[in-house]
Amino acid sequence: MILDTTGNRYRELAERLSSAGITLVAVSKTRSETDIMTVYDTGCRDFGENRVQEVVEKEKNLPKDIRWHMIGYLQRNKVKYIAPFVHLIHSVTGFDLLKEINKQAKKNDRVIDCLLQIHIAEEATKHGLTFEEVKEILFSQETAELVHIRIVGLMGMATFTSDEEKVRSEFSTIQHFFNEITAAGTVHNAILTELSIGMSDDYEIASECGSTMVRVGTGIFGLRARH
Ligand SMILES: *Cc1c(COP(=O)(O)O)cnc(C)c1O
Repeated sequence: MILDTTGNRYRELAERLSSAGITLVAVSKTRSETDIMTVYDTGCRDFGENRVQEVVEKEKNLPKDIRWHMIGYLQRNKVKYIAPFVHLIHSVTGFDLLKEINKQAKKNDRVIDCLLQIHIAEEATKHGLTFEEVKEILFSQETAELVHIRIVGLMGMATFTSDEEKVRSEFSTIQHFFNEITAAGTVHNAILTELSIGMSDDYEIASECGSTMVRVGTGIFGLRARH
């Protein structure tokens, strides 16, 4: 029974992580609504998606108490589709995007929580900001004026490699940077509490490097047919 395995995997992992104070986001991209409901029924309310069209469709059909996390590359012209319901956008990669999120959040009369995505991995295909760019956004007056967004932390992905020491070194670089900026005092619409690092293959390392939120797909649902 594949479905039982999925539910059990979620429950086991969620229990282990929650005792360490870490939120488990079940990455449900490409998964059917039936599979999502299996995990929902074992208690999961945090689901991560990387395509706007897919999350909009699932949000329409699935229970309203699900917290939808946008974890994929987000184009400015698509923010409006997720603005009414998205719980947390992990993948903010620039000030212009932040401004658009603010605009759409205002239209929906809400405040949208965001993470700034750090680029640390070797792959150029992975999106993200440099540490300098993160600081510019965090400490600028322009950001402080965006009252319909709240920056709650950072997201990062390690290089795809079997070299655990490399992954650990990248995560701890992010962790040190996170500690540096949280200690520095921040603008009023940034409350930096979340560090979203760790996926199926590296969440244990991430949890040793200060992760507060891990994004796990295959580790719960099994292998994906596509990314
Ligand atoms: C797909 C994806 C994940 C989950 O990956 P798994 O290896 O299936 O755990 C996490 N984060 C992001 C940004 C993703 O796109």
